[in-house]
Amino acid sequence: MNILVINCGSSSLKYQLINSESEEVLAKGLCERIGIDGQLTYQPENGKKETSDIAMPTHTEAINAVIRALTNEATGVIKSLSEVGAVGHRVVHGGEKFTSSCLINEASIKAIEECNDLAPLHNPANLIGIRACEELMPGVPMVAVFDTAFHQTMPEVAYIYGLPYEYYEKYKVRRYGFHGTSHSYVSKRVAEITGKPYDQMKIVVCHLGNGASISAVNCGKSVDTSMGLTPLEGLVMGTRSGDIDPAIMEYIAKKENKNIEEMTAVLNKKSGMLGISGVSSDGRDLEAAAASGNKRAELALDAFNYRVIKYIGAYAAVMNGVDAIAFTAGIGENNKAMRQAVCDSLSYLGVKLDPEKNDVRGEERIISADDSKAQVLLVPTNEELAIARETLALVK
Ligand code: ADP
Repeated sequence: MNILVINCGSSSLKYQLINSESEEVLAKGLCERIGIDGQLTYQPENGKKETSDIAMPTHTEAINAVIRALTNEATGVIKSLSEVGAVGHRVVHGGEKFTSSCLINEASIKAIEECNDLAPLHNPANLIGIRACEELMPGVPMVAVFDTAFHQTMPEVAYIYGLPYEYYEKYKVRRYGFHGTSHSYVSKRVAEITGKPYDQMKIVVCHLGNGASISAVNCGKSVDTSMGLTPLEGLVMGTRSGDIDPAIMEYIAKKENKNIEEMTAVLNKKSGMLGISGVSSDGRDLEAAAASGNKRAELALDAFNYRVIKYIGAYAAVMNGVDAIAFTAGIGENNKAMRQAVCDSLSYLGVKLDPEKNDVRGEERIISADDSKAQVLLVPTNEELAIARETLALVK
């Protein structure tokens, strides 16, 4: 069966058409500038990437453009829409309502809508994508795969904040965590690659991209994760602050005459490695700047690594040990200096990296030395494939 995987944002939409038997990507691409003008990027398997300007006043035209590209006589990969057996949608926030993926119907759409408050920038956009697909592909089964679902196994003690309990009861203020599809996929791969039983392993997954989070996966269940109610908590990220003293909000707001929304925007968009360095949020730019002597770029990278080291230590403590540590996402898969620096600080866990095995980008492999007590792995994440697998499991 061919499964169309959709990751819909407010003005963009990423898609992949995946054959669920071979797990091959038949075509993939991106719609951008939806609601502004519209641009489609389309790349068929073994084919050339093409970009074209197509009017996309709404997501419906965007998805229509994707369907036309997929079924195009010359460059398409399917003959007609009937060759799409199911659609898998990434949905950011499932609150406490969704502990796993679900079939999309009116009841589940309503439940997703009820989580909109928790992710006002993401969930409504995800729902627009779902509605547009319903309109253009009536009768094709659809599945919602949530970023938060994998972390719903966290114990109360890990998800409760030290706030008045009534805020949890009234407003569901608690830790949810994100990147769940990635943490789930990568932790399962760790068990497969190392040949150990997933339900007996203690795994720390470091998903380090622009947005970054670490999770503790104990016996196949997420027991803690660094992102919280929103993706702002935890690590120092590209532009997000991660953990800070919450009193800083009021202190800076008064000094700079900013309101709460403006302060939140600073913490989301102007902080993290961008804020520290003043150079860029991108790991590559920062490495280049640091290499040419920029001290603040070096500090930003060091602060990033330091927070990763702290969280790995915290999660080793939470699980009372760790069998494997996995690095994934843009920085995790590509930055060997970061992996080396982090692992150099984990010798107390018996971690020993093999510099030769670590000299790699984006390739699935064990990168620790044979005598390392805890194994270290590089596992490229594949959220689209994970969504396709979840979708297949539910529509079968
Ligand atoms: P997101 O999906 O959250 O936008 P990604 O997982 O794509 O983020 O990661 C983006 C980060 O990965 C950027 O900081 C970027 O610099 C880094 N990155 C991507 N490719 C490379 C590379 N080849 N070398 C070093 N860093 C890279």
